[in-house]
Amino acid sequence: MDFDFTEEEKVFRKEVDEFVREELPPDWDVKTSYWPAGYGTLAQMETEFADYASEFHRKIGKKGWLSCGWPKEYGGMNSWVKNAIVDEVMSYHRAPYGGVATWISGPTIIEVGSESMKKEWLPKIANGEATFWLGYSEPNAGSDLGSLKTRAVKNGDEFIVNGQKTWGTGAHVTDYCWLLAKTDPSARKHGSATLMIVDNKTPGIDIRPIENILGIHSFNEVFFDDVRVPEENVVGEINRGFYNVMLALQYERLIMGMGAFRRVLEELIRYVKETEYNGQLLKDDPLVRNKIASIAIEIEVIYSFYWRTAWAMDQGKFSETEASVFKLFGTELSVKIACTAMEILGLYGQLERGSKWAPLLDGWASIGYLDAISGPIGAGTSEVQRDIIAIRGLGLPRD
Ligand SMILES: Cc1cc2nc3c(=O)[nH]c(=O)nc-3n(C[C@H](O)[C@H](O)[C@H](O)COP(=O)(O)OP(=O)(O)OC[C@H]3O[C@@H](n4cnc5c(N)ncnc54)[C@H](O)[C@@H]3O)c2cc1C
Repeated sequence: MDFDFTEEEKVFRKEVDEFVREELPPDWDVKTSYWPAGYGTLAQMETEFADYASEFHRKIGKKGWLSCGWPKEYGGMNSWVKNAIVDEVMSYHRAPYGGVATWISGPTIIEVGSESMKKEWLPKIANGEATFWLGYSEPNAGSDLGSLKTRAVKNGDEFIVNGQKTWGTGAHVTDYCWLLAKTDPSARKHGSATLMIVDNKTPGIDIRPIENILGIHSFNEVFFDDVRVPEENVVGEINRGFYNVMLALQYERLIMGMGAFRRVLEELIRYVKETEYNGQLLKDDPLVRNKIASIAIEIEVIYSFYWRTAWAMDQGKFSETEASVFKLFGTELSVKIACTAMEILGLYGQLERGSKWAPLLDGWASIGYLDAISGPIGAGTSEVQRDIIAIRGLGLPRD
């Protein structure tokens, strides 16, 4: 077992790191609200940064770094390890890149899409020219997606979609919806829906903002009123939508902004080395050291899991259970880190972005504290992940 990168991977990592350092504006990371650990609000969702973010995203696409894990015939590098390197370095620098299209839809299309769909969509996604949002959840269908009500009725070579989606992250700053809709209401839950791609500009789509806990417009409520979708936009087979979404969710559960964990730890360590409390540097307080050591251990654990998962994917050994373990551990760790940061910063931790007194990157502690709690909910809650691990991973009974 060799836990090191190959020489080629080391050179690649250095190239990505140098590129990002040169490319990002010097004050980039203090301007955005991107919670720098785990699965939180991305800078792309902040309207004021959306243009810069999409320009940066396309530059990364031109370098082939949005699709490193894909097979070579679809413009990839056949390396999930390189993909993981790009994600790690980008998230360390809080770079505004990636999203549903590259992390979720592209890999799913490669596995279940028709050849013509692959030819049409993969190049656009890899170049950063097609961006997506996820249209799964509805007001009465979250964990239990089988209860969804949005209908897609076949009409010649089109589907006519009617219904309402909610929590659509980034629907207002992306191009297409990755939509799950009911196509056969008479079938049992899991054989009744179809996954399809819908152009946001199609007449009949109404996107309305929902502010998140940070006051940022990241979510949307989206209404579909007689929206026409060409049949060729169906992803995989008709009425196999649930199975295809389960596959897409495995990819979604691997999104973690791993490098941000490393960054946060470095910043916390720097802070306690420089900051005095009651005449003593925080670094000399045993409680503070214990807290930092505890999160450092868990960061090391998730890092090992991260590189191992990327390696396993390159060997074709990716499992649903591992994706759930990773998502559960990573998002709960993100909450733990945010709480630890708040405890160490004390009352200063509550200061908001913009306050000149806010320590640590213009207030990331308060941003992180509020944003991190969404991680264990999105892409399937922690309770749902524990169920998947218990039932599918450990063979325990469903009830
Ligand atoms: C940051 C963020 C981004 C999101 N982005 C999107 C998006 O882009 N597109 C989209 O479609 N959705 C999105 N969502 C919605 C997300 O998928 C749902 O919030 C999630 O699936 C949970 O559904 P719910 O909110 O309806 O809660 P519910 O399903 O109503 O759950 C409520 C509580 O009951 C528990 N529970 C439910 N069922 C079970 C069970 N079987 N066993 C044990 N406990 C259970 C849950 O764990 C939870 O604690 C996002 C959510 C967040 C937080």
